[in-house]
Amino acid sequence: MHYHQYYPVDVINGPGTRATLFVSGCEHQCPGCYNQSTWRLDGGKPFDAAMSDRIIQDLNDSRIKRRGLSLSGGDPLHPANVPQVLALVRRVRAECPGKDIWCWTGYLLGELSPAQRELIALLDVLVDGKFEKELADPGLLWRGSSNQIIHDLNAWREREHKGLIPCQRLA
Ligand code: SF4
Repeated sequence: MHYHQYYPVDVINGPGTRATLFVSGCEHQCPGCYNQSTWRLDGGKPFDAAMSDRIIQDLNDSRIKRRGLSLSGGDPLHPANVPQVLALVRRVRAECPGKDIWCWTGYLLGELSPAQRELIALLDVLVDGKFEKELADPGLLWRGSSNQIIHDLNAWREREHKGLIPCQRLA
């Protein structure tokens, strides 16, 4: 996997102060995409063990407290990115207790592959759906167009467990 950019301190992409990783690679080609430079899987820099270590260190930094990690792109759920993103979120779960993980994807929650579902099982929030230029609204929080949904995955799992409505929208 390659990544396009890493912000060690970010207050834009998700709630609170966060660390944010923009991975490379996206196959959705949304008209009006603001981040076309992230579409190529081999763009940006290789995501290596040192980068993974840095994210863990930043999340555990006691001087600048981060609420959690945001994963964006590009698309963290691009099939080619899933193995390394899964390895990263497993590390965050094991080594950074109490941190939340948000992820943005162009895929729809209801249409994910088994591998993608294995990954989102470790996330707190998934913002799904392609960017739709006709539905773009700069006033929206944490999403670009109104078709995109901010899913509270913890509430979703709880409801699934109880056999209730399978999805909880945050916005
Ligand atoms: S999913 Fe995001 S990065 Fe990919 S084309 Fe659409 S807007 Fe761009």
